[in-house]
Amino acid sequence: MGTQVIRDVRPLGAAAVDVVLDRATVEAVLPAGSAPAHLPLLLDGRGQLLLPALVESHVHFDKTLWGMPWRPNTAGPTRNDRIANEQRLLPGIDVPIAERAGPLIEHCIARGSLHFRSHVDAQTAFGLRHVEAMLALRETYRDVIDLQFVAFPQAGMLINPGTRDLMRAALELGVDIVGGIDPAGIDRDPIGHLEAVFAMATRYGKGVDIHLHDPGELGRWQMERIADMTQAAGLAGRVMIGHAYCMGAFPTADLAPLADRLAALDISIMTCAPPHTTVPPVAWLRSRGVNVCSGSDGIRDAWSPMGNGDMLERAMLIALRYGWSKDEELAMAFDIVSAGGARALGVESYGLAAGCRADFVLLAAENLAAAVVDRPAGRTVVSRGRIVARDGVYTGH
Ligand SMILES: [Zn+2]
Repeated sequence: MGTQVIRDVRPLGAAAVDVVLDRATVEAVLPAGSAPAHLPLLLDGRGQLLLPALVESHVHFDKTLWGMPWRPNTAGPTRNDRIANEQRLLPGIDVPIAERAGPLIEHCIARGSLHFRSHVDAQTAFGLRHVEAMLALRETYRDVIDLQFVAFPQAGMLINPGTRDLMRAALELGVDIVGGIDPAGIDRDPIGHLEAVFAMATRYGKGVDIHLHDPGELGRWQMERIADMTQAAGLAGRVMIGHAYCMGAFPTADLAPLADRLAALDISIMTCAPPHTTVPPVAWLRSRGVNVCSGSDGIRDAWSPMGNGDMLERAMLIALRYGWSKDEELAMAFDIVSAGGARALGVESYGLAAGCRADFVLLAAENLAAAVVDRPAGRTVVSRGRIVARDGVYTGH
C-alpha cells in the first residue's frame, strides 16, 4: 500500500476531485481527471460524495443485545427501574459481550463510523467483566477504528460502595476517560460525586465524560460546577457533558454566561436529540463557540430496542428534532456527527484536506443535504487508506 488514488469524488458535494493517498494519509486533492494516470487506483468514485468518516461520540457497546433474537423491553418507567432491569437481565445473557458488540462495531463501520467513544459499565453488579471484554475487543479492531472507553458508573458511584475501586481498576487497565452520572439525581451528592470524578481524572491523567439527565436549575447548577472543576483541574478541551437536557429548559439569554464558559473551556455537549424531553439549543450553542457532538447512546439493549448505529441517520434525527430543513441546517447536523465529534474526541488530522488521515465514507447522493435526508445505503468506507466496507457490508480487517 504505497501511493494510491481515489478518482472522481465530490468532497461534501463540491466539484469532483481525485484524492491522492500516501498510505494512510491524504497527500493531495486535485481536480478530477488530473491525478497522474500511472497511480494505482484504490477506488473509482463515479461522482459519489466523499465524506469524512463519521464519529460516534456516545454509545454503550458493552450492553448491546445486537444479533440476538428480538427481546421485548421489560424495563419500568424510571431511570432506576431501567438500571435494575439490566442488572437482572445482562448477567443471564449467554452470548459473550464480544459476540454482541463485535458484530455491532462492524455494522457501525459499514455505516461509515471510524471514531468511537463507548461508555463501559464499571458497576458492582458486573464487576470488571464489561471492561475486560471491551478492552480485548478493542485489540481486534485496532487497525480499523479509534475506540475510546469511558469508565461508567451506571448505577451511581457514591451510593454503590466498591464502584470507585472498579473505576480506578478500569483506568489502570487502559480505559481512557472517567465517567459520571447525575451527581445529584442518582448519587444525591453532586459536589462529592464531581470531586471524586475529577480527582480520578487528575490522578490518572484522563478526561471526563458525564451523563447529565438532571433537569432544569438542578442540571444547570451542576454544569456550572463541572465548568469550575474543569478549570481548576486544567482539563480544558478534555471534558464532555452528555445529554444536558437541563439546557433546554431556559431561554438562551439565560444560558449565555454558562455557554461562554463551556466555549472558553472547550467542554463539548453531546446530544442524541431525543424526542421525549428538552434538549440543549445546539444551533445557538454552536453560534457561541460551544462544540456539539452526538451519539447513538444504547443500541438494541435492555434500555430500549431502538438504534442502529448509523450516524448519518442520527444527523437526520437531529435535524428532525430541531426542525431543521435548510441546506445549511442539514450541513450543521452533518457537522455535529463528523467534525464536532472529532473535536470532542480529540481525533487528530481529521478531514478531507491534504495531510488528513484517509478515513472516508463514499455514498451516492446529490449533495450533502440529500445525504442527510436520504441516508443512502451501499456505502463504501475507507479506513487509513484501506477499504473496510463495500456496498454497506464490512469486509474485514
Ligand atoms: Zn449513555
